[in-house]
Amino acid sequence: MTFLDYAPAPESTSILHLRTSYGLFIDGAWVKGHGMPFASISPATERHIAEIATATADDVDAAVAAARRAYDRTWSKLSGADRGKYLFRIARLVQERARELAVAESLDNGKPIKESRDVDVPLVAAWFFYYAGWADKLDHAGLGADPRALGVAAQVIPWNFPLLMLAWKIAPALAAGNTVVLKPAETTSLTALLFAEIVQQAELPAGVVNIVTGAGETGAALVRHPDVDKVAFTGSTAVGREIAKAVAGTGKKVTLELGGKAANIVFDDAPIDQAIEGIVNGIFFNQGHVCCAGSRLLVQENIHDEVVDRLKSRLATLRLGDPLDKNTDIGAINSKEQLDRIRELSDIGEAEGAERWTAPCAIPENGFWFAPTIFDNVSTSSRIAREEIFGPVLSVLTFRTPAEAVAKANNTPYGLSAGIWSDKGSKILAVADKLRAGVIWANTFNRFDPASPFGGYKESGYGREGGRQGLAAYLKAGK
Ligand code: NAD
Repeated sequence: MTFLDYAPAPESTSILHLRTSYGLFIDGAWVKGHGMPFASISPATERHIAEIATATADDVDAAVAAARRAYDRTWSKLSGADRGKYLFRIARLVQERARELAVAESLDNGKPIKESRDVDVPLVAAWFFYYAGWADKLDHAGLGADPRALGVAAQVIPWNFPLLMLAWKIAPALAAGNTVVLKPAETTSLTALLFAEIVQQAELPAGVVNIVTGAGETGAALVRHPDVDKVAFTGSTAVGREIAKAVAGTGKKVTLELGGKAANIVFDDAPIDQAIEGIVNGIFFNQGHVCCAGSRLLVQENIHDEVVDRLKSRLATLRLGDPLDKNTDIGAINSKEQLDRIRELSDIGEAEGAERWTAPCAIPENGFWFAPTIFDNVSTSSRIAREEIFGPVLSVLTFRTPAEAVAKANNTPYGLSAGIWSDKGSKILAVADKLRAGVIWANTFNRFDPASPFGGYKESGYGREGGRQGLAAYLKAGK
């Protein structure tokens, strides 16, 4: 079979008006960071994008103080309806600047423009619209009459969905009446800084949203700050564990959204065409940099060969390359460190005896890339079946009975998500009931909605984001 070749269709970057260097956004103004600035680069080309400030402990202190003042003097005095108006304004500004935000996200993160344009940015707007609607209805959130904000929220986010994770954190916090200091991940600060411009455009009172940039040290100073009432963290289980220890006994309320190793279970009565697309979306969406990725395919033994063959044919059609090209399916790996980790774990998978298959695609000369990869005949004890690879790598395991599928799916230290593919609704419900995962998709995968709570069990963290439950994380019972 021959395929038509696509002409390049790159999205123009002329819509971006980036500064050469960015400071910190504290108390409604741009200020200098006192740490050593660092460069944000495009992972697809390794080209310099902008210089980013590092916030020191003193800068974090200034940001927390600004958030406290804003909480005491303005934000906590506003009615829910007035807070809602600001959130609606932010949502509309995100929509107005959608193309610019999508281009910036793809440039800085490496994800394909069709994903940042069609998934990330529309969901960011949806999150603000959704929580804007809650701001004046907190009495009806099922948390008792007159629930109260916590105060100042310290929020630390990862690099895989930079602007979306910001929205998941900031929208519910503000709707519930808190002020925030947010730290984006060091490789993907750009869209958080563009969001600070949106906060200015929306004329939010100074200090309600503060953005401090920097690496782990800045994050540690923020979550440990004594004047913070709430810590919300999304990132790796290792750092989550450190944060849990640091805040234990302080009275700070904590939510942790950590890693995952989801099972995507395909029964022999599943609609195979859809299941193939669901498997691809489950693990190759966003280069597999997805906490809830379907990284373990559990396929019923009698359809194993058919599913794996069809999966390989489908993967051979995926287009890897320039994230800004509208035809691109697989973008760049976010950083050299992440690429090294994916390579290391993949080599371990091969050494442990799994059969490695790599999609036949050309790898660009510069930048960080990893071709879609499948490991077949993976044993449950193998490291690639147990550890989060956080890349475009699928481990294939088989099962014979629903009970075996459930046992294998639950045989993981994580518990964030799972997928079930079957023609029978009763089977889906029976299996879902036994899976220890916070989110379970049936005949689909990686679907997100602001009204739907998201979060994990076991080492995937605690607390929920999204929906009414996401508000509860930022509120305490009224008097
Ligand atoms: P990471 O834990 O290395 O970093 C996350 C953030 O924490 C970054 O902003 C980083 O600067 C900061 N940080 C690092 N050390 C810190 C410390 N000691 N104290 C405070 N902050 C610190 O994770 P990552 O590599 O950026 O992201 C990938 C991980 O995030 C994966 O494990 C993935 O599963 C997880 N993740 C989870 C969800 C979810 O909702 N459950 C969503 C997205 C990503």
